[in-house]
Amino acid sequence: MEKHDHIGDNHILTNIKTPMVPNAFDKSDDEKIANIQVHFKKIMEELGLDLTDDSLSGTPYRFAKMYVKELFYGLNPANKPKISTFENKYGYQKMLVEQNITIDSSCEHHFLPITGYAHVGYIPKDKVVGLSKINRLVDYYSHRPQVQERLCIQILKDLQETLGTEDVIVVVNAKHLCVSSRGIKDKESFTTTVEYGGRYNEASIRNEFFKICDFKNVE
Ligand SMILES: [Zn+2]
Repeated sequence: MEKHDHIGDNHILTNIKTPMVPNAFDKSDDEKIANIQVHFKKIMEELGLDLTDDSLSGTPYRFAKMYVKELFYGLNPANKPKISTFENKYGYQKMLVEQNITIDSSCEHHFLPITGYAHVGYIPKDKVVGLSKINRLVDYYSHRPQVQERLCIQILKDLQETLGTEDVIVVVNAKHLCVSSRGIKDKESFTTTVEYGGRYNEASIRNEFFKICDFKNVE
């Protein structure tokens, strides 16, 4: 038990890949929803709640559906957005920045929300992507139980592969409900993670990105 508290409060990252069991998707979404519904009902009952109350009776189902179809849809590779790339016909060779992409994620140590913004920059080589595709990719990786460091790296690695270039930077500014509403209960602090590769290793390129970014405050 103590070990679990320790890992949670220190937000230790153990793996870049989201740790999954090999048979994670043998069951259908509907089977998972049915099972989670049973388990969550038990949790509510254990807390002493009266599940015959009209207001509570549908909660186990709503909870299960929300987990499988909404909050954690990004666990299933079948839900990964199709990112089609286009030839960089206009020969655009400078930096492209997509800012203030909403982050709606959950911390894997407490299953509480992580909310904030991602900011992504890249320098195109032969390929470019539709702008909204970056948002969709961020949304996909966010909708897993996450640690912010891993989220940032997963977005970076995917974009580097998709775009065929190392020249990508990802910044995530986010608030963790497990820090603001429990434990230390700090309402103001937020967390920034920065991951980059290729030309973003050059301070001047990195600074250009940060100059362009008009970071929204994390609320
Ligand atoms: Zn947490």
